[in-house]
Amino acid sequence: MSEAPTPLAHAVSRWHEDPFSRGAWSLLRVGGTPATRSMLGRPFGRVIIAGEATHPEQSGMVHAAFDEGRRAAQWCLSQGFGSVAVVGAGAAGIGAARSLQQAGIRAAVFEARERIGGRAWSVELPTATASSVVMELGANWLQQGERNTLAPVAQAMGCRLVPTDFHRPLELGHPPAMGPQTTGAVMAELHARVERATVQRDLGLAEVVDAFLADPAPFDRATVQRVVDSEVFLDTGAPLGELSARLGFEAGVGAGDRWIVGGYRSVLAALAEGLDLRLGTPVTGIHWSTSGVELRHAQGESRADAVIVTAPAAVLQAGSPRFDPPLPAEQQAALSLLTAGRVEKAALVFGERWWPRSTDGYIRIADGAGRISEWLDLSDALGLPAITAIFVGDWAAELWDGHDDASVAAGVARVLQRATESAGR
Ligand SMILES: Cc1cc2nc3c(=O)[nH]c(=O)nc-3n(C[C@H](O)[C@H](O)[C@H](O)COP(=O)(O)OP(=O)(O)OC[C@H]3O[C@@H](n4cnc5c(N)ncnc54)[C@H](O)[C@@H]3O)c2cc1C
Repeated sequence: MSEAPTPLAHAVSRWHEDPFSRGAWSLLRVGGTPATRSMLGRPFGRVIIAGEATHPEQSGMVHAAFDEGRRAAQWCLSQGFGSVAVVGAGAAGIGAARSLQQAGIRAAVFEARERIGGRAWSVELPTATASSVVMELGANWLQQGERNTLAPVAQAMGCRLVPTDFHRPLELGHPPAMGPQTTGAVMAELHARVERATVQRDLGLAEVVDAFLADPAPFDRATVQRVVDSEVFLDTGAPLGELSARLGFEAGVGAGDRWIVGGYRSVLAALAEGLDLRLGTPVTGIHWSTSGVELRHAQGESRADAVIVTAPAAVLQAGSPRFDPPLPAEQQAALSLLTAGRVEKAALVFGERWWPRSTDGYIRIADGAGRISEWLDLSDALGLPAITAIFVGDWAAELWDGHDDASVAAGVARVLQRATESAGR
């Protein structure tokens, strides 16, 4: 095997260990239902939690977070609050603050990081030419077609959107590719089995999958396993034993998804224009009562009539910010039914493209042990050799943990190099 070329530039995510994300996106544990999410988002006192985790149908999405932020703002408006504090400047916080500001309500946004966007994080990398390239370390695609409220915003802003058909990946590695028809049929059967198995009570997703593997007809076991690895595990990054069998499997992801040239940041920065943003201001405590709220943060204390909290569910679970009095039982119960998976990205820029071309720039690499990584090759769309790697679960842990960013980038490039060589390209 030859050495993998060294990237000219790289950027690496650390969502799993980042104290302001603590994982990728929220997932239902066994016993959780869409109502769990609504319960988390129900107002209490003068507080409301909003974000991707509180959307009952479109969780785990940027546009869902934005819509949830707007929902929280509507509640504040309906209560007649004159000033609102917003914790977090991701899509939900921006959606909330923008709606409030448009209605003439003062809304200060307290953001822990030195940037806006949260789990939508676009980075700019140098290239071999004079131009740089914007790549995503978090959210990448506008998904769920017409239900995506940010897609028309991006279009109206004149953003160039590049489609990706997830059903037509270039598959490298082992075992051999599974066509879209087989994949669709296995997933339909899995959903039918979930429906049947969960009539009486919720089960762990692993239980339903194990029963399917034990009795895979009309498919064979290897086919079912491969489809589960690529369609279910890849979409969650969490051990299936932890997850509810009723999990939504990211409905609406597939054909019609588009990524934004210039990144999510171009859309979110435009939406955040003119907002009262306090970057680098982690909120450590929220004291709430029937008369108002008090926030403790790096710069001291702030008071408002109400607060919209958009910190990710996994961050709230870890006790940040601290609520005084504590979160009501309903919200605590809802949080205990959520978890987050591990999904990491590495953005790589090279001097030239040395990996194979795929129709839509979408590549999947299997390692032969049930682990699959996804790759978005930006080269054709941008005319620059740039590729983003997406690793989940154990494979991400193996490549990321204990390694600095340059070693992660090198390790990831090696995976692409080996797959390219074994495909004889
Ligand atoms: C690797 C990856 C890939 C993804 N791919 C896609 C995709 O292709 N398409 C898609 O639609 N979605 C995707 N998602 C999901 C999407 O990014 C999220 O659902 C969405 O961005 C969440 O928005 P949010 O506002 O709810 O939370 P966040 O974006 O996490 O915003 C919360 C904000 O709160 C801040 N914060 C946290 N704690 C505090 C505190 N104590 N004080 C002050 N501020 C605090 C955080 O810094 C953050 O800015 C992806 C996510 C990841 C991680």
